[in-house]
Amino acid sequence: MAAARVIDGKAIAAEVRRSVAAEVEQLKNEKGLTPGLAVVLVGEDPASQVYVRNKARQTTEAGMRSFEHRLPASTSEAELLSLIDDLNRSKDMHGILVQLPLPPQIDTRKVIEAIDPAKDVDGFHPINVGRLSAGERSLVPCTPAGCIILAKSVQPELRGLEAVVIGRSNIVGKPVAQLLLREDCTVTVAHSRTRDLPGVVRRADLVVAAVGRPEMVRGDWIKPGAIVIDVGINRVEGPDGKSRLVGDVAYEEVAQVAGAITPVPGGVGPMTIACLLKNTVAAARDQIARA
Ligand code: NAD
Repeated sequence: MAAARVIDGKAIAAEVRRSVAAEVEQLKNEKGLTPGLAVVLVGEDPASQVYVRNKARQTTEAGMRSFEHRLPASTSEAELLSLIDDLNRSKDMHGILVQLPLPPQIDTRKVIEAIDPAKDVDGFHPINVGRLSAGERSLVPCTPAGCIILAKSVQPELRGLEAVVIGRSNIVGKPVAQLLLREDCTVTVAHSRTRDLPGVVRRADLVVAAVGRPEMVRGDWIKPGAIVIDVGINRVEGPDGKSRLVGDVAYEEVAQVAGAITPVPGGVGPMTIACLLKNTVAAARDQIARA
């Protein structure tokens, strides 16, 4: 029997979506405005197609307008930049998301930097990255924002906690670390060159694993009672030859020691789109306030 409380990301994401839908309704009634999200997909990556379909469905379910732009894999950088320019100017579009990865002929950095920071609902534009690290108000990357909501669902006050983030990517590890600093945690960012990773993780009251290595974090790395947020999504082959999804955390072992843990699937995963919708409404509100 697992000791840890299981953090139900599906239920918490549904709650976030309900509150977004209520806010959308209010914007419609009070300002006559329906927030719009543009999602741009270049090429036919199957995983990206699934994400884009889910984003579109959940956007309309929350009462917002969804605009999908599907471009062929052969699209040139200039063509994509020209579309982004149009979306930046459009009054119907409050959020713009370009699904990554992009094909090799397109410079991802250039594309991210071309998006109007006010519409950058992924929070990847350097202006938003800078604002986040300066502790200013900004559009915050969705998966990291979801991690904080999940951690706070079991411990609303994170102040003073020892937090260890494993992974230093720009899309997860670094922004999670910034958000935890904002919550007044004492933050350590561990990575592939960290010495004695188990020893570092053992100090943590709160662990966020964003590595991309199946079940790397073991039960004996965890301080009893710690909160464990598992961002990893790894497809592995089970003993029966069927593939299944596992996180970066050895769930069964860690759940014996941790105080609370997110499952994979059903933990961090569902929070990403919920936070994207939240960002889109926030972006729409800010754009009306400035208009
Ligand atoms: P990434 O490959 O960009 O970064 C991985 C990080 O892990 C790097 O900073 C690296 O230093 C660190 N690392 C690698 N090996 C290590 C080791 N042995 N010990 C310690 N650190 C090590 O990955 P990412 O984009 O940050 O994604 C991480 C995981 O999160 C992946 O499994 C990805 O699928 C998942 N992910 C999930 C969501 C979601 O739930 N919505 C969103 C984004 C990423």
